[in-house]
Amino acid sequence: MPKTTKSGGVNLTSPVTVLSGVGPAKAAAYAKAGIETLEDLLLHIPRAYENRGDIRLLSESRADGGKTAVVLTVATTPQAAKLKGRLTIVKFRAFDESGSAEIVFFNMPYLRQVFTVGSEWRFFGVVERTPIRGGMKYKISSPAYEPYTEGALPDFTAVYPLSEGLTQKNLAAHVAEALRLCGSPVDVLPDEIRRRRELCTLPFAVRNIHNPESYVALAAAKKRLIYDEFFLFSLSMSMQGKKKREGHAFSCKKQNISPLLAELPYELTGAQKRAITEIAADMKSETPMRRMLIGDVGCGKTVVAAAAMLIAVLSGRQAALMAPTEILARQHYEDLSELFGKIGIRCELLIGATTAKEKRRIYSTLSAEDPEIRTPIVIGTHALLSEGVQFSALSLVVTDEQHRFGVNQRAALTEKSKGTHLLSMSATPIPRSLALVMYGDIDISRINEMPPGRQRVDTFVVDENYRSRLIAFIKKTASEGGQVYVVCPSIEENPDRDSGEVDLYDIGDSGIYKRPPLKAAIKYADELSAALPELSVAFLHGKLKSEQKEAIMTSFECGEIDVLVSTTVIEVGVNVPNASLMIVENAERFGLSQLHQLRGRVGRGKRKSYCILVSDDGSETARKRLTVMRDNYDGFSIAEADLAARGPGDFLASNSNEIRQSGGLRFKFADLCGDASLLTSATEDAHSLLAASPTLEEYPALRESLSKLGAATNTD
Ligand code: ADP
Ligand code: MG
Repeated sequence: MPKTTKSGGVNLTSPVTVLSGVGPAKAAAYAKAGIETLEDLLLHIPRAYENRGDIRLLSESRADGGKTAVVLTVATTPQAAKLKGRLTIVKFRAFDESGSAEIVFFNMPYLRQVFTVGSEWRFFGVVERTPIRGGMKYKISSPAYEPYTEGALPDFTAVYPLSEGLTQKNLAAHVAEALRLCGSPVDVLPDEIRRRRELCTLPFAVRNIHNPESYVALAAAKKRLIYDEFFLFSLSMSMQGKKKREGHAFSCKKQNISPLLAELPYELTGAQKRAITEIAADMKSETPMRRMLIGDVGCGKTVVAAAAMLIAVLSGRQAALMAPTEILARQHYEDLSELFGKIGIRCELLIGATTAKEKRRIYSTLSAEDPEIRTPIVIGTHALLSEGVQFSALSLVVTDEQHRFGVNQRAALTEKSKGTHLLSMSATPIPRSLALVMYGDIDISRINEMPPGRQRVDTFVVDENYRSRLIAFIKKTASEGGQVYVVCPSIEENPDRDSGEVDLYDIGDSGIYKRPPLKAAIKYADELSAALPELSVAFLHGKLKSEQKEAIMTSFECGEIDVLVSTTVIEVGVNVPNASLMIVENAERFGLSQLHQLRGRVGRGKRKSYCILVSDDGSETARKRLTVMRDNYDGFSIAEADLAARGPGDFLASNSNEIRQSGGLRFKFADLCGDASLLTSATEDAHSLLAASPTLEEYPALRESLSKLGAATNTD
């Protein structure tokens, strides 16, 4: 992003107080919003744009409560009147060729001098319409106003995210002044790349993200800022990854693990075998492994990790497995200590609940130099990161669901695992292109195959016309003893913003898209109870107290509730094998990966299970996406399709918990990105630039801006 340049002593690092009208109070308000310098201010990007260029006649103003832009001529001298209390009101009439409107402002008496009879203004506000005999009465209260000259006003007006003490007017004025004062920021992107990728210049981008000249200019500005962010992030990740690492090269061969595999009551799947081969190859090298093992819940990642741990142990070294919760750690311990016990290898469990005495014993066996005494495998929670824990020969660290650890824990883990081989397991399918940006040169093993015998959840996409059949299906499922999940995207009806603003998210090549209304969970739960009087229907949502949630979940688990209507709270860790029908309302609102997680809630037991995606969105995009769900059962293909269809912005937004945290992503603009190819091209460019110039010697400005970024991202 912009770099410091001098211009009359003021530069991008100057405090906001250099701007006119920014005193200590405003500066404090800005500081609260995280804005201290002019650069911060220029990077405070609008959350949306008002489309004031869409000028309509009063008679054609929006009737849906949204704001309309109208151009009116003042017809009467503004009158001021005092209302009760200290309220003053200024009123006048103004007209266009379709009619006239009453314009009203509150507590702005000075406006009487502004609106002279005959002057022309562009107003932007909600036009109230009241039918009267033979026509329509219009009234606009407190609209935005700008003197009108044809062609002289911008179409789009930025709407900034605000915080206390700041107004839209403040931001617009201060941003404009900052742009004037700082002149042109230094562009660190190599010009060759900029031209090849047909990106606009940085000054153009910064100017247009705040004051778009046109729709096209805005799209170009957005594209450039997002590209830069991906590009710099990818460069910095790759450069960090390139730092030389040295570790232990394990001597154990892959064949030596066969006694363990022989103890398993099943054959490994092809995907599991492949993952083990990849891991074993990594562990033979002195460059410590940085590998992620990704696969849907239940695909069998644990046994792959066990194979890796065995390689470490047979080479005379130690392995640690760390899980985010005690429950998970215990579960791993129970499974693995049994398995390793069969081939005479000891495991220990170290969690917060381990007694002090037991901890001391484990600590001493972990730090023992003598291989006879030394504990070869330890499984635990972040308790493994406590100061007292010293390993004498740690060479492999495995983490399960690493994104669920806290930031400090991950930092401590990085510290502890320096020079060791690292294997992390995740159930969130991350598309390769995104993983490359997020993790630089980390390697990925994918388990894209389920153990045999797992049932497939048949999936259907239907619309409102199927409502009665859907109800019948619920009845049938319940009468056969099965249970049903119904998921709705939101609790209340239509919380959608619809105020005439063009959402930044909706600006793309395809223009603006209107979504069908939302099914409200509360109302819907009532409707369902009424339609299914013989069944027990319960309603679960995020606003309930946690005891209430638990009570409902418990009665669903023991079969007292037939139909559970809920928001997405059920996504996390619910296991009810008896549930065999999943209905998702407004399915078009969910990310595909999210739908995949939801679908994973059924098909866990013996009952044949179904997933029904209900959507009235007839748009081709929605149909296509839902068809992907109907036809794909593997998390990876779904995640790829999700990323391709919606772009990294929406993808990241709906997978925030899993993906954002795992990469330590702190993107500002990427959230707005609806174009997955931008991600890919930025990553490719970053990698090929580094291949040609590993230390970026020829690009000093780029290097400097990376070192700044490095300071911000190095915590991981
Ligand atoms: P996850 O990938 O979610 O961690 P687990 O490793 O816990 O999955 O495995 C889920 C279940 O599948 C376990 O009970 C495990 O024993 C079993 N399993 C793993 N691999 C296979 C296989 N190849 N064939 C049959 N069952 C398997
Ligand atoms: Mg697991």
